[in-house]
Amino acid sequence: MKKSKLTPYLGALFLIAVIIPAIILSGIAIRSLSREEAYIERRIKNTLLAEATHTASLIQAELKNVQQELNTTAPSIGDTSLNQAFQQWQERSLVDAPFLVASDGRMLYPEDKGQRDEKAKLTLSLNKKFFTNEARVPVYENIAEVYQEEILKEAEKLPSKLDEDMSSEALGRVRGGYSREADTLSVKQQSPNVAGQMLQGVFDRHEPVRKKVYEQAKKGGKQIGYRKVNLPDENAINLQGREGKSAVVSKQESIFISELKNFRQIIAQADSGIIPRIIEDKLRLLFWKKLPDGRVVGCVIDQKNFKDRILGVLPDLYSAVRILTVLDENGIPLIRPLEEAARDWRFPFVAREISAMLPHWEVAAYLTDPGMISSKAGTAIRIIWVLVFILFISIVSGGTLVLKSLHSEMALAKKKSTFVANVSHELKTPLTSIRMFAEMLKERRQPDADKQQKYLGLMVSETERLTRLINNVLDFSRREQGKKQYSMEEVNVIQVCRELVEGQRPRLENNGFVVNFSTDINEVSVEADGEALKQALLNLLSNAEKYSGDKKCIDVDIHHDNTQVSIEVKDKGTGISAGDAKKIFKEFYRADDTLTSRTKGTGLGLTIAQQIIKDHGGDLNYSPREGGGSVFRIALPRYARS
Ligand code: ADP
Repeated sequence: MKKSKLTPYLGALFLIAVIIPAIILSGIAIRSLSREEAYIERRIKNTLLAEATHTASLIQAELKNVQQELNTTAPSIGDTSLNQAFQQWQERSLVDAPFLVASDGRMLYPEDKGQRDEKAKLTLSLNKKFFTNEARVPVYENIAEVYQEEILKEAEKLPSKLDEDMSSEALGRVRGGYSREADTLSVKQQSPNVAGQMLQGVFDRHEPVRKKVYEQAKKGGKQIGYRKVNLPDENAINLQGREGKSAVVSKQESIFISELKNFRQIIAQADSGIIPRIIEDKLRLLFWKKLPDGRVVGCVIDQKNFKDRILGVLPDLYSAVRILTVLDENGIPLIRPLEEAARDWRFPFVAREISAMLPHWEVAAYLTDPGMISSKAGTAIRIIWVLVFILFISIVSGGTLVLKSLHSEMALAKKKSTFVANVSHELKTPLTSIRMFAEMLKERRQPDADKQQKYLGLMVSETERLTRLINNVLDFSRREQGKKQYSMEEVNVIQVCRELVEGQRPRLENNGFVVNFSTDINEVSVEADGEALKQALLNLLSNAEKYSGDKKCIDVDIHHDNTQVSIEVKDKGTGISAGDAKKIFKEFYRADDTLTSRTKGTGLGLTIAQQIIKDHGGDLNYSPREGGGSVFRIALPRYARS
């Protein structure tokens, strides 16, 4: 068989439609692998940040509760004696040491002179100057609340990003609130929480906005502090300088900026409140409340009790992924797992500042297993590798299959068109000679009676050849349509073969062939369609004739045993190469040798012969003949009389 001309075209198609897309797809998938770890880290970070934010809001709510509780229980200091009222108040666990300041700033309680109570003494020594407005203390505020307008202004410079952060409706409301001066509604009045949270979000997420707003705060004389925790945050200001991405651990500015104020200034803004004071590295909370007569009553809040209340609202310390705790003003956890002594608490995975009333306090989350992200990423990467591999293999093998079947379809189409050409030629040749002899006889151009007989004989054999050809083609098409039918009956194979060979003998001998028919028995029955059997045999005989070359000798031998009959058609011709021998039974297949190419044929003879024999429960195979030539052997099961 010649190699198909279509092969290079199919090769290019395979490259363009299969290999290149498979490689590109795999490339894209593999590229995404490198981002897997960062992606997983971001996901866990977001989840933990959300939890930390939620915890911070629980603590804020508890702070409010504390304030409320002190507010309602604070004595009004009317008729009852001061000492008695304070004693009663002090019985409450939250109250550590009460105080009372006159409207002009004089200290009314505790008194300086003769003070024996240790707590009262301490309160005085630490706070007297403050209460009497001689000393100022830092008052903390959330920068994102103080500088809302500036945040919005800076954020407007990144419009696309801003739209991502805020819904357009909310954005419109925020913008409208600030830009329309005539409008009395401010953002805060419309929906203080929603707008505030959104602006806080914008502030947290956008480094340029943050930078500008901190600059403004600095210019406005506000103190900017740094957080106690070290966060592996790309957006944070890195105090040590960048030394490779993973090693970056940076200090961040606190969102709580401070300003020095004295007691009078602080209490001017509300009726009651909590003032955080960090004295000697320790946070002390002062509760205060204005009385109707202008005096200010208050207390130092009991630290231990307060911490217990905060611990009461925290979620579970441990989960499968993280340890979540609260760090105090010195970065020390309020609660820590016993077995976690070795951990450096200054390096949380994520952390959130809590409240202006709790400066430097943070809700901090730590990964229980620091290797978790890389091991998770490792698993994901392995899975993706396997998927990429499967994808690659399936694309390539699927593509190969498609192209293979395309190739064989195309080859078949080519074979069919050759077949049509061959059939036309096969039809034309005998027709031409039949016509030629018929015309000669009609015009009586050959007076010699022997010659006339010879012409008639030739016409008969050409007609037979035509019939055989047409039978083969018809048979083939019937099979293609699944319409082939046999009329089975008990048939004497010897008789069928003998009749056929004897029928062909004169013509073959005329063409110089020696034909031998030998059998070891006279009658053997098989169940068969006699005509079909003859057609198969005739194809074999005709092949023996066509492919014999100069050694014109055909032997037909019949043997039998208890179960089967074998009919061998042997010639001494060209034989068939081992490579071709496997293919000669395929439809349209013609061996590619000189004799075959000189001899016309359809490539259907053996296909049909083999199918017929198989339909009879037998087999047809080829073997090379010793000394050169071919042996085609039909084996048929013997007829079993029941
Ligand atoms: P066709 O003879 O029309 O080409 P066949 O299906 O009968 O088709 O045979 C297929 C091929 O097998 C032939 O083209 C030929 O090359 C080879 N072949 C068949 N019979 C013989 C034989 N007796 N000797 C040598 N080659 C043969």
